[in-house]
Amino acid sequence: MTTTTDTDIEVHDPATGELVGRVRPADAGDVDEAVGRARVARDGWARTPAADRAGLVRDAAGALRGVAEELARLNETETGRPYDDGLGGVLAAAGTMEQYAELGPVHRGRSLLGSWSATDLMVPEPRGVAAVITPWNDPVAVAAGLIGAALVTGNTVVHKPSERCPHLGRRFAELVASFLPEGVLEIVDGAGPTGAALSGHADVDLVAHVGSIAAGRAIRQAAAGTGAHVLLENGGNDPLVVDADVDPRWAAEQAALGSYANGGQVCVSVERIYCAAAIAEPFLDALAEEAARWVYRPSAAGEKALGPLVDRRHREHVHGHVAAAVADGATVHAGGVVPDGDGAFYPATVLSGLTPAMTITREETFGPVAPVRVVEDFAQGLAEAIDDPHGLAATVLTGSMNNAQQAWRELPVGSVKINGVFGGAPGGAAQPRGTSGTGFGYGPELLDEMTTTKVVHWSPLP
Ligand code: NAD
Repeated sequence: MTTTTDTDIEVHDPATGELVGRVRPADAGDVDEAVGRARVARDGWARTPAADRAGLVRDAAGALRGVAEELARLNETETGRPYDDGLGGVLAAAGTMEQYAELGPVHRGRSLLGSWSATDLMVPEPRGVAAVITPWNDPVAVAAGLIGAALVTGNTVVHKPSERCPHLGRRFAELVASFLPEGVLEIVDGAGPTGAALSGHADVDLVAHVGSIAAGRAIRQAAAGTGAHVLLENGGNDPLVVDADVDPRWAAEQAALGSYANGGQVCVSVERIYCAAAIAEPFLDALAEEAARWVYRPSAAGEKALGPLVDRRHREHVHGHVAAAVADGATVHAGGVVPDGDGAFYPATVLSGLTPAMTITREETFGPVAPVRVVEDFAQGLAEAIDDPHGLAATVLTGSMNNAQQAWRELPVGSVKINGVFGGAPGGAAQPRGTSGTGFGYGPELLDEMTTTKVVHWSPLP
């Protein structure tokens, strides 16, 4: 939980409201110095053998495993993320860095079949200085993926973690930097203005941003002036379409998991649900029962941990969507009330009676809310799911092969999940579409984003 004063950013525990600490945001001068150090380190790092770079990243990942519990506790204290989830995030971060350490040295170009006497090559090269600007909702894993991929491909990095978890961000990044030559990984603290100074800096060659659509837009504009390559993994408004032929109780479990995991603060959380009328009643009843199992910590047996939201500012945003929907006629089946007491808690909420015009239908809520619109059938649900400018991900629950096939073909999103809100094979990477961003932020393809390709045509002297 954060409040920004004139000079310092204060971080408060979102469960208790207690002060965790303060950080001083980096100003344009500090950003300039950090970028300058990264630029000085750039050529040396780019010329370091790929296997040596990878070895250092692998060593850093090992050290990260060693402090995973400490970082998970800090994650909980700064953002409210339940400890076990945070621990999973840190271990995933270490795993991702290890994967990039394997993939970096074998990321290669190709030779071309030109004239017999000439040599033609396509060679990947590091882009240069990468600005890595990250959010708070899965802070270590997201930062580790981008930083790991940037480093193994020979870029130097200036990292700005989220102002909502600056102590966690700095602890992680300083640990990784301690394995690297000076200037290869720089860290700047701060909020939007610091991020803006970094993403608009003339000596930054790549800006990788994971976060909100609004910030992504500002970054796109700033980078248009500098020519930096832009990689944006931004917010979504993911639909879940529930067909008439599925078990409504199982569908409700899926809907609850998609809506409530990490307090609904996952980029691919279920944001809007279209349920076929034939099973809507048992589905809504089961969903309200599911909501009752997602409770505040400490969680008891049979209950699933729901932490507080990241801060009260965000809770106002979430409740604003719910209250506006209710004012416009939505029905509350569970939750929907701001609890008394300390912190930024918000209950697992179920709404029905959504309309396409409501803000909660059109925009990302990013909270533990399952908003349901009852539709005539799968076809209507799919049509409404498609009619949205976001393009991150979508899920359909159906026993019909035809409906599943139509859905994955027609949904204009990067990831389509059929019969499971989460999951997927390792290495799966998608490009977000529409307002949700641009470029591969994950998987082996991220290494392509981190590099630029040079073609070499080499003829013999005549
Ligand atoms: P945010 O955009 O507010 O903040 C993310 C980072 O951007 C922070 O470090 C912040 O300081 C910085 N920032 C803010 N304004 C900036 C500006 N004008 N210029 C440069 N940097 C700026 O987002 P958030 O609230 O931290 O994160 C939540 C959002 O992130 C949600 O919308 C969520 O869907 C999205 N997200 C997307 C993915 C994905 O892979 N698509 C993953 C995680 C989170």
